[in-house]
Amino acid sequence: MTTQVNDLLNALGVSEAARSGGTLAVRSPIDGAQIGAVHEATVADMQAAIARSHAAFLVWRNVPAPKRGELVRLFGEELRAHKSELGQLVALEAGKVTSEGDGEVQEMIDICDFAVGLSRQLCGLTIASERPGHRMMEQWLPLGVVGIISAFNFPVAVWAWNSALALVCGNACVWKPSEKTPLTALATQALFERALARYGADAPAHLSQVLNGGAAVGEALVEHPKVALLSATGSTRMGRAVGPKVAARFGRSLLELGGNNAIIVTPSADLELAVRGILFGAYGTAGQRCTTTRRLIAHESIHDELVARLDRARASLKIGSPLEAGTLVGPLIDKASFDHMQQALQQARAEGGEVSGGTRALAEQYPNAWYAVPALVRMPAQTQVVRQETFAPILYTLRYKTLDEAIAMQNDVPQGLSSAIFTNDLREAETFLSASGSDCGIANVNIGTSGAEIGGAFGGEKETGGGRESGSDAWRNYMRRATNTVNYSRSLPLAQGVKFDV
Ligand code: NAD
Repeated sequence: MTTQVNDLLNALGVSEAARSGGTLAVRSPIDGAQIGAVHEATVADMQAAIARSHAAFLVWRNVPAPKRGELVRLFGEELRAHKSELGQLVALEAGKVTSEGDGEVQEMIDICDFAVGLSRQLCGLTIASERPGHRMMEQWLPLGVVGIISAFNFPVAVWAWNSALALVCGNACVWKPSEKTPLTALATQALFERALARYGADAPAHLSQVLNGGAAVGEALVEHPKVALLSATGSTRMGRAVGPKVAARFGRSLLELGGNNAIIVTPSADLELAVRGILFGAYGTAGQRCTTTRRLIAHESIHDELVARLDRARASLKIGSPLEAGTLVGPLIDKASFDHMQQALQQARAEGGEVSGGTRALAEQYPNAWYAVPALVRMPAQTQVVRQETFAPILYTLRYKTLDEAIAMQNDVPQGLSSAIFTNDLREAETFLSASGSDCGIANVNIGTSGAEIGGAFGGEKETGGGRESGSDAWRNYMRRATNTVNYSRSLPLAQGVKFDV
């Protein structure tokens, strides 16, 4: 495993010195083997990096946006050329199946393409002025240093969603990746630096920097007054710590936190589609996606049949090394994650749940890794454990009588990220999408909760944090708005008709 990782890191341009000899041990969740020892940044390193980033911003903000887009285009080319190596590294370091590792790099490429187009479309409005001979407009201008804190489960794509937009918007970025996935971050940075070298002299150094370490290094980024926008992806616990600190210094934050996503299945649903959507949503990525399907809310007339089918299919899913073809369920990230899963299942039993699966798998083959049999838990009601996010492959099943009851149940959790309904009834579908329907940032019909296309704005409400990243108009998060009025007349009429004598 170590040789494979080293070969990939060499191909991606990460030096031996950067990936070894440090204090941050990196382990592959596939077999628990140590695959690197990365240098940890100190708080002082972070402060120095922010100062360098601010200097880079002062130069970059004056480069015309379409020219900034050219840098992101070149970075997209590097990603295309190294998609397979970076995808494999994601699989080895985060334990995702290889196609998902490649898919994550594809998302990075897609957001680069989106950002390149956007670099010619950072449009403001022209607004009718009430005063003669005046023009009023709004402009979107670069913001400053953008701090990015990312989670282990999307170790590189989340950074790209933020940085590709932040860079075309004229900002400089400082990245604090998850301490569980520092190697993919170093590899991404190496590819970015190749793009920067090809771009030439117009781009300042330190336009994007990566600093590895734990929460303390992240906090230094959170608290620094020169960080204009702090975009943080991770648990609600992390967001609760970070959000108030950024607010206290009147900084901007973009929070992408935990989800507790449900699928409602109604009597008219195509059950073939629903079974596929639920299985992939609940157990793909070993339940370690923010958009993982954690709750099934099925109509009482189809509940038993659907749950029985799901349970049979669940028991036949291939658990194993994510590098082997056909695996759907890879490892959990670490032992703490497995322990959380066990605690949740214990609590579910105490709250009246009937648990299938959930035990440790492949312990003999991988004594230092943490694989779990996916769990399905038939719950009598939406109890406390169902209302919390457990970042593991557990699907809770619930039954409903009326659609209103199903929607109320879907919304009655603290999180508000993703949701879906499987139905062939237009009234039910439209009700679910309406003002009195799902309260989530993402609401789908006849597709599951997990995964998203970069063209749409991504994020959720309530304890999910309220942030939106990626497509649509999410770019506005990375810019400041200025309202400008230009007087081209020979008089100075005041707004609201105010008059005064001098
Ligand atoms: P985590 O909260 O443990 O860590 C996320 C990041 O925050 C890491 O880089 C960590 O070092 C940093 N961090 C933790 N405490 C901090 C603090 N006090 N100050 C500054 N930085 C701090 O999350 P995780 O286990 O890596 O990821 C899983 C969680 O992330 C799940 O809850 C999942 O739903 C969520 N997630 C959300 C989205 C989304 O877009 N909504 C996407 C991916 C993951």
